[in-house]
Amino acid sequence: MSYKLFIPGPIAVSEKTLRAMAQPMIGHRSTDFVALYNALQPDLQALMYTKDSVYISTSSSWGSMEGAIRNVVKKKVLNCMNGAFSDKWLDVSLRCGKQAQGLKAEWGCPVDPEALRKELATGQYDAVTLIHNETSCGCMSDLPALMQVIREFPEVISIVDTVSSFSVVPIKKDELGIDVLITGSQKALALPPGLSLISVSKRARDRAATIEGRGYYFDFLEFHANWEKGMTPSTPVISLIYALQSKIDDIKAEGIDNRYARHAQTNKMVRDWGYAKGFKLFPEERYGSIALNCFANTLNIDTAALNKILKSEHKLVIDGGYGKLKGKTFRISNMGDETVGTIGALINALDAALAKTPKASA
Ligand SMILES: *Cc1c(COP(=O)(O)O)cnc(C)c1O
Repeated sequence: MSYKLFIPGPIAVSEKTLRAMAQPMIGHRSTDFVALYNALQPDLQALMYTKDSVYISTSSSWGSMEGAIRNVVKKKVLNCMNGAFSDKWLDVSLRCGKQAQGLKAEWGCPVDPEALRKELATGQYDAVTLIHNETSCGCMSDLPALMQVIREFPEVISIVDTVSSFSVVPIKKDELGIDVLITGSQKALALPPGLSLISVSKRARDRAATIEGRGYYFDFLEFHANWEKGMTPSTPVISLIYALQSKIDDIKAEGIDNRYARHAQTNKMVRDWGYAKGFKLFPEERYGSIALNCFANTLNIDTAALNKILKSEHKLVIDGGYGKLKGKTFRISNMGDETVGTIGALINALDAALAKTPKASA
């Protein structure tokens, strides 16, 4: 069962990262842990372009996404929806017992700043959720334009999911005025799943202090009180924190700007391959994600058959479309450690496999 993942999460994890996870345990209230946690802070803050604290959550991203709702929504939250993950966030808000409404766009379309302004101007909302990069349909919204709109409404706390764009493109938290920035381990950071990072502004913490029913596990005030001591509220996933430390070393060795440039280059390689074969991008081209490519299956190939050939003959796996887009699209990740060399090898495999792939039956 050895094959390489080019699905948009979880993605391939390097040997170096796996080895980093195999270090002995330390007590989570020990000075060793405090040293580890505190050493990570400045690097995490630099990667998020923020002076705010960055909490390490032992959960997948949904834990932090749900937690953010519980912490900051007092009146009503506007959930911007343009794909599977952002659609689900409305459902999660309602399940948390909050007043919530969706601002809906078609899958593959970006969140529209004008529509956002119009809805926020109704004055109903004190929080908004945004997904920067809708992984389900490979669509990257214009975050600076959207944050400019949200900044016009001082009462509104912004919660931004950067789960599949963090470390792919720069996301300048403080400059953009993002209150709550969330990312996860198994997407562009190329770590195994199970850890999420969440940076919270003072404004958002102040809001949380006025809200009941925040619970314990994702309570921003618990996170912060422990952060001040270099700790987490409960026993964290220490192995993944070792992995995170190793990955941050990798990022610093490469240089963050080089990392962004590498993602742009490998993304374009895959996109150009798809175009050369006759596929179209599913989202509008200028909103095409830099972290992955979601192609529309314009050649009507059997994407399941393509993946079967890729897996058995080339030991790699792509994604055959998310949810209602299954078969209608296919997605290829270029997140994490992929290089011109590894993406070149992927493209050779795609070429060979595509030549053998039958058309989808009508
Ligand atoms: C993968 C993903 C999530 C969900 O992450 P989990 O780790 O499954 O909780 C949320 N948002 C985006 C944009 C994602 O790509």
